[in-house]
Amino acid sequence: MFLCHVVGTWLNEQRHYYYPGFREHFRYPWRKRVLEEEVEIMAEIEQEERQTYMYFQDRSREFGFNGLSLLHRLNPLYQFDILNDTVFDAMHLLPLNVVKNHFSKLLSGEVMDERELACKLKQMPWTTDYKSSRLPNDLEGIGYWKAEEYQKLAFPASEFVLSGLLSEDEYTVWAPVPRLVEFVFNAGRDGWTEDMIQKFKCLSWRYCILMEEHYGTQACVVNLHNLIHFHEDISRFSAPDNYWCTQFERAVSRYVQQSSNRKYLEKTFARKESQREFLKFQQSAGHLDAGRPSRSPKFNREKVTYCTIVHSMGLSVSVYLQLINIYFLLFVSLLNFFV
Ligand SMILES: [Zn+2]
Repeated sequence: MFLCHVVGTWLNEQRHYYYPGFREHFRYPWRKRVLEEEVEIMAEIEQEERQTYMYFQDRSREFGFNGLSLLHRLNPLYQFDILNDTVFDAMHLLPLNVVKNHFSKLLSGEVMDERELACKLKQMPWTTDYKSSRLPNDLEGIGYWKAEEYQKLAFPASEFVLSGLLSEDEYTVWAPVPRLVEFVFNAGRDGWTEDMIQKFKCLSWRYCILMEEHYGTQACVVNLHNLIHFHEDISRFSAPDNYWCTQFERAVSRYVQQSSNRKYLEKTFARKESQREFLKFQQSAGHLDAGRPSRSPKFNREKVTYCTIVHSMGLSVSVYLQLINIYFLLFVSLLNFFV
């Protein structure tokens, strides 16, 4: 991510900061933040003794930092730049933010017939691959939907279910989203070309500009702004599935199921994790040992048998060759004798 010096606009009705001006800033980009300048501010906030909630809130609003990040300790090691070398997570940015927010706007604004949408979702002809995991079939349970449902709703379902449901203007605003999701979760899984990255950049900017012009300043949340930086991560670090959080989120669902004493949760998890790591290590060590002599009697027996066969085969072949050699010498000497 490349963070820029954006100036937030405070809206009193929403009691929130917003970051508008996409059309203007596409042509005249915001100034990028430079680590050397920002580190001084981070350190100053870190060392400040008046650590009250109001103070932090004011400083956080003004500069966007709450102190000096621990990750900055990596900077002397290999020039790790906390502002530029960290990435946005595709799962949280696209399905759980852009798609979810847009759909909740559509559903709350009564711009489409909700019952017809539910009906069309049930009629969606899913392929076998998609059917193997979660599907956005049940619109009534939208409150329990995970990232996967929102992802599949955006692409491939939305173009099927929203056709005829949305007005032309609403559909024009929504149109870039299925392509963005398709790029990240489908086409991009086979690799990204420079052309794909440029198209993704244009789609992101188009979506942000249309959102601002259609829904106003209150649509310009910071996550919408982050979308315009997403292609920079892909340019620098390749496909987002190399570094997204999906697999870690799946591990979280496993941790939640883990029974614990409800007292020292961290300790319980830490112990279970160390046991799991140990078992994993033991299994991999078992694989590594497969080619070496082992102390277990069973393995020794196999090894001995194997060695004996190989050894005896080698011996018999050498004996056989020596016999041929002797017979050949005898034959040559007999020939000499008769001639
Ligand atoms: Zn920015």
